[in-house]
Amino acid sequence: MPMSPGFHSRLRPILRDVAANFGTPFHIYDEVGIRETAQLLKTAFADVPGFREYFAVKALPNPRILDIMKDVGFGFDCSSVAELILSRQAGARGEDIMFTSNNTTPEEFAAALGDGGCILNLDDISLIAKVPRLPELLCFRYNPGPARTGNEIIGAPEKAKFGVADSQIVPAFRTVKARGVQRFGLHCMLASNERNADYVIETVHMMLELIARIGQALSIRFEFINMGGGLGIPYRPGDSAFDVMKLGRETTRLLREFAGHNGYQPKIFMESGRYIAGPHGALVTTAINRKDIYRIHIGVDACMSALMRPGMYGAYHHIEVFGKSASANDRPVDVVGSLCENNDKFAEQRPLPAIADGDLLLIHDTGAHGHSMGFNYNGRLRPKELLLRADGQVELIRREQTLDDYFATLTYTPKIMTPAAG
Ligand SMILES: *Cc1c(COP(=O)(O)O)cnc(C)c1O
Repeated sequence: MPMSPGFHSRLRPILRDVAANFGTPFHIYDEVGIRETAQLLKTAFADVPGFREYFAVKALPNPRILDIMKDVGFGFDCSSVAELILSRQAGARGEDIMFTSNNTTPEEFAAALGDGGCILNLDDISLIAKVPRLPELLCFRYNPGPARTGNEIIGAPEKAKFGVADSQIVPAFRTVKARGVQRFGLHCMLASNERNADYVIETVHMMLELIARIGQALSIRFEFINMGGGLGIPYRPGDSAFDVMKLGRETTRLLREFAGHNGYQPKIFMESGRYIAGPHGALVTTAINRKDIYRIHIGVDACMSALMRPGMYGAYHHIEVFGKSASANDRPVDVVGSLCENNDKFAEQRPLPAIADGDLLLIHDTGAHGHSMGFNYNGRLRPKELLLRADGQVELIRREQTLDDYFATLTYTPKIMTPAAG
């Protein structure tokens, strides 16, 4: 079932009023649903001492949302300076933040290690020499290479740009141990939008075997393993949900087994974004044009600048014509935005009830990697974000972009140089 049913039932009675009040398009998020999913995750890992979710900030980088994540006890997974700032503004300090570096700049290292620091997750052995001062606790991201098949979305690990190769992982930890690092973590993320819990369980298993191997080689213990994010959600009707209880159960079992052989248990960290926020957001847009050529095109007032997953990955997002139910007479239509790009479509050949100008369309599951992926091609502006709060009030939590925002980077101090003749 796409979109959390609870969110749907909370949104249905108020949607027209909200749309009339704020104007479309907008993303709207559901505080109750986010809190329920957070609780479910914590329940699933209740028997794992030190379990912690570090919310992947890039999925939904809104300060009001991050306040909720902080309130439920989550940390934050960051990979840019802006995400570090957002997390610290939400009150995160030190080990509440995991900074997963990737093609990292000196400025990013400085931001990550300054202002209370963070858990630093290094993406490559060459970065050891580039960290200005190695922290006491250090993590490496591991890439198992061809030994392990990636899931469909993220692809084969050996083709990925992420992580330390298998042959380099022991040398990486040996080097930092010799340079005084005393606490160690291991990170790995092999899947994206994976709904099969067995795949993630297998990853945890692999990581535990690896830290046993590294631990024996270097006489070290690992404080934690971070299994990454990538837990999937049901975008299509009929998709099954990720069995997070099974993941919790099996992780608990694997940890006990590990403890039996190695005499200790590492903590387990996770950094999901989509699983926590995805089903608890929707993009609300109004049909403004209908064009009947070789196909029927329904033009809406949002475009790829509000949600690029369909255009970028051909991803499915369920679409509901508000107040009209699906029937056998539904005709296939393309739901399109206004970019001069033919992939600016929220759906292609999707059977939908007859749509008239002015109808509200609800595009489901935009709570993660929705607004945050937006961009400004064609001078198209990004929409506002609303929060349906637990107290039933609807709050504007980000205004829409304006033309002034768009033109802001054209206001600057003039600068011209004359290149020296070569
Ligand atoms: C994107 C990302 C995540 C979150 O992925 P989801 O699919 O939203 O769970 C977590 N960790 C890292 C390193 C990422 O790049």
